[in-house]
Amino acid sequence: MRFTLDNSKNGELIDGKLVRQETVIWSMDELIICGGTMVTGTLEPNSRLAVSKGKIRFLKTGEELSGVKTISAEGLYIAPGLIDLHVHGGYGADVLDGTRESLGQISAYHGRCGTTGLVAAVAAAPLEQMADALVAVARFAGQEKGARILGTHLEGPFLNPRFSGAMEQKTLKQPDLKIAEDLLAAGCGMVKIATLAPELPGGLEVVEMLAASRVIPALGHSGASFAETLEAGRMGLKHVTHIFNAMAGLHHREPGPAGAAIFSRGFTVDVIADGVHIHPCLLKMLWQLKREGLLLISDAVAAAGLPEGRYRLWGRDLEVSRNRATMAGDRLAGSTVPLLAAMKNMARACELTLPQAVRLASTNPARILGLTSKGRIADGFDADLLLLDQDYDLHLVMAGGRILFSKI
Ligand SMILES: [Zn+2]
Repeated sequence: MRFTLDNSKNGELIDGKLVRQETVIWSMDELIICGGTMVTGTLEPNSRLAVSKGKIRFLKTGEELSGVKTISAEGLYIAPGLIDLHVHGGYGADVLDGTRESLGQISAYHGRCGTTGLVAAVAAAPLEQMADALVAVARFAGQEKGARILGTHLEGPFLNPRFSGAMEQKTLKQPDLKIAEDLLAAGCGMVKIATLAPELPGGLEVVEMLAASRVIPALGHSGASFAETLEAGRMGLKHVTHIFNAMAGLHHREPGPAGAAIFSRGFTVDVIADGVHIHPCLLKMLWQLKREGLLLISDAVAAAGLPEGRYRLWGRDLEVSRNRATMAGDRLAGSTVPLLAAMKNMARACELTLPQAVRLASTNPARILGLTSKGRIADGFDADLLLLDQDYDLHLVMAGGRILFSKI
């Protein structure tokens, strides 16, 4: 069957002005997807699964559902929707805007690009603005029409100014328990990850407090030594944010945070595999050494999904050209591609099978976030599904049983 979907309203630039995008939504209580190859831990051909009230249901042998719409996935793969733990923005909108319109744009853009769940990343900014953004996400969650917002990721303000990356240096702060508590309170329980530089004075106390508050303390924008990183691990640090980027390098006598994160099984790491941030040989090394402890993020900024050109990001000029977003001094500032593009790039660099690539962009992030009904195709799991071909081109995106994009 063929859906008649109006994709023309998905947003475009007309006379240099961004026209608001509309998410294509097709919702029905029951639906059957048959004939495709399911990407579970392996590849399972001749799928027969039903989507019922937003959940996946495996059909029993011989079970027929009459009068139910059927989508043929013949020649396609059926994969779980991607989960991105680090999204600052997209389609001209930034989480820091602190508005439901911006959050709606971000959810819609990433949703139709194959990301069915995302963690909204709040970059370092004046504290009031960070708190407003956290409140806005907490209020908006549950009303999104595209990618589901799974929580917030505080990327700051306790970052090392020497490794500030694209962050505005004057907004960075020394770790402080009171500030951390206030930000968590503004997040209304939705802060899931907090990235900080644990080597700063007071850093370990904040790591301990975050771990006790069930927030994943993550190292990032950090100049920590190998020993300091392991020490932070003993205090509850679990994760390393965009490994290799915006942190002390890996030196043979001082392996730094990247060396500690690779060496210690206690750490999980994420990487920006957009083809710009990291040399392919290091992507291969991470894949070989971390496996289940590795996941992909987009670190997408507001310019993601927009044409090449000049934009403003976090108070500074940003130039986007050939998938690179740079600030003055050729400093990289987040990425401009959604997670699916990073997954495709990682798969090519590391010669991954589709099930392996899906683990890095869906299963592992879901596990790290503690999600028990996402990240896999399984009976009773959320119907967050992608239909894609062998070139990773999307044919359909479904989140919670709602179709966000389709060319079937
Ligand atoms: Zn970021």
